[in-house]
Amino acid sequence: MRDPARVFSLFVRKAMSDPKPLTCSALVFVIVLAAAGSASVPRNEAGRPAWTVTYVANEGFLIATPGGKILCDALFGGITGDWCDQPSAETVEMLKGAAGPFAGVSVVTVSHAHADHFDPHFLVAHILHNPGVRVFCPNQARAVLERDPAWERIKANVFAVTPDQGRDETFEAGPIRVRVLRVDHGPYLEDDPTTKERVNRHRDVENLAFVLEVGGMRMLHGGDASPASSGSLRGYLAGDERLDLAFLDRAFCAPAGTEIVVRDIRPDILVYMHIRPGDAPKFRGCVDASRAGAPELVLFEKPGDVRMFPMK
Ligand SMILES: [Zn+2]
Ligand SMILES: [Zn+2]
Repeated sequence: MRDPARVFSLFVRKAMSDPKPLTCSALVFVIVLAAAGSASVPRNEAGRPAWTVTYVANEGFLIATPGGKILCDALFGGITGDWCDQPSAETVEMLKGAAGPFAGVSVVTVSHAHADHFDPHFLVAHILHNPGVRVFCPNQARAVLERDPAWERIKANVFAVTPDQGRDETFEAGPIRVRVLRVDHGPYLEDDPTTKERVNRHRDVENLAFVLEVGGMRMLHGGDASPASSGSLRGYLAGDERLDLAFLDRAFCAPAGTEIVVRDIRPDILVYMHIRPGDAPKFRGCVDASRAGAPELVLFEKPGDVRMFPMK
């Protein structure tokens, strides 16, 4: 396997600070497919190439593109509690075994090392069954993976990067361009029992957002970024890059969040994620569709749901 950091002369650039307004065009149509197996044929009904997105669980998605499959935040499961969707035991087996719709994945992204996004054992198993895969993750996730007995066998597949604040790094993994952004995890505020001070328990979590581009389509996956950390997102996305799809935490479903989406992120299609089981319909009214520049809002209601997005 070739190292994407060598294929592509790695470049790092400063976030831009002068946003240019862009006009968003509406989603032409969305087709709900009958079965997840259809994800292996990424063409729309007119025979044009398309991206097929399968909801795995929580922030986990499989994106099948004509240039290869991408798996974001999907290798997890079996965690305590019912506060987020989780992949079924059958799906977990397919994820670990790189089987069924998860066969032949080209790129895996891990936004951060929380258990509802990343299980190191599942990821190691997937790599061992899919030795051509390239995994992009923060250094904190790599530190966990290094403790696995199979680390020596999989380390060539793992590209760990945690850019400094305001910086980004871009890799080319075959036809898939992977731009890694550093965007803080949403805050989790608690009173410290010792000092009685209000502290953000997630302040040291390395959360990455990814801009993934292949075949002229471009998507953003924000991990657990929230409107509170959107200042850096705004800087990163201030160029003239049009986003076809943006996957964002449900925290963006608030007046401040939708303002950031419409004004700064400007995707054609918006997907809210990290939604409690059964709660997806509650998010339907988050975006005022009549507003100029408003994205098409798409909500995945249950694991295994599949939608196809045609290329422009
Ligand atoms: Zn998290
Ligand atoms: Zn999370």
